[in-house]
Amino acid sequence: MSEAKIRDDICRFGRSLFERGLTPGSSGNISVRLDDGGWLVTPTNASLGFLDPARLARLDASGTLIGGDPPTKEIPLHASLYETRREAGAIVHLHSAHAVAVSMLPEVDPRAVLPPLTAYYLMRVGRTALVPYYRPGDPAVADAIRGLAGRYSAVLLANHGPVVAGASLEAAVFATEELEETSRLYLLLRNLNPRYLTPEQIADLQKTFKLDLGDEGEAHSH
Ligand SMILES: [Zn+2]
Repeated sequence: MSEAKIRDDICRFGRSLFERGLTPGSSGNISVRLDDGGWLVTPTNASLGFLDPARLARLDASGTLIGGDPPTKEIPLHASLYETRREAGAIVHLHSAHAVAVSMLPEVDPRAVLPPLTAYYLMRVGRTALVPYYRPGDPAVADAIRGLAGRYSAVLLANHGPVVAGASLEAAVFATEELEETSRLYLLLRNLNPRYLTPEQIADLQKTFKLDLGDEGEAHSH
């Protein structure tokens, strides 16, 4: 895929996420890994709703800015997740309300933030880890993501928001949307004793769709 097409896609998906209220103001950021090992990243203080394809930050493989505006200050989130998820082609980070709300609940299991509510959550996201709160810009958050050793494509930062990797930009966006919708369902159903997918139904999904759900696929503690 040409770099020009990737630039347009970042702006198109960014606008779509912003217009649906999935990340307010100038919050949220998107990155895509390019064939030369460099990345395109949304600029610092830029609203995802009003991105200019020509002004996206272009970094080389060493992370040096070689074109466009300076990248988001949250670049350590992206760098640490790419480092541990070699197959990741794109990363989306949002301040989406329902996922942020779930990140503050006392019962959340840091190794399986959401229970197996729907097949599409397991198929698109798989499982989500919770990383504790860090002050914005604190480099320790990158160490916390590295500490997950690439076992999770989706990481929820407590009191902040989700960071989701995907094989492509479209996959990362769709997974982030699924995480937000599943968070919304969880909040709607909280304390209503909903039926989750059974271990048999989860095993069937794992087998049919070759899902990598690790131990959590078998043993959700919710
Ligand atoms: Zn953020």
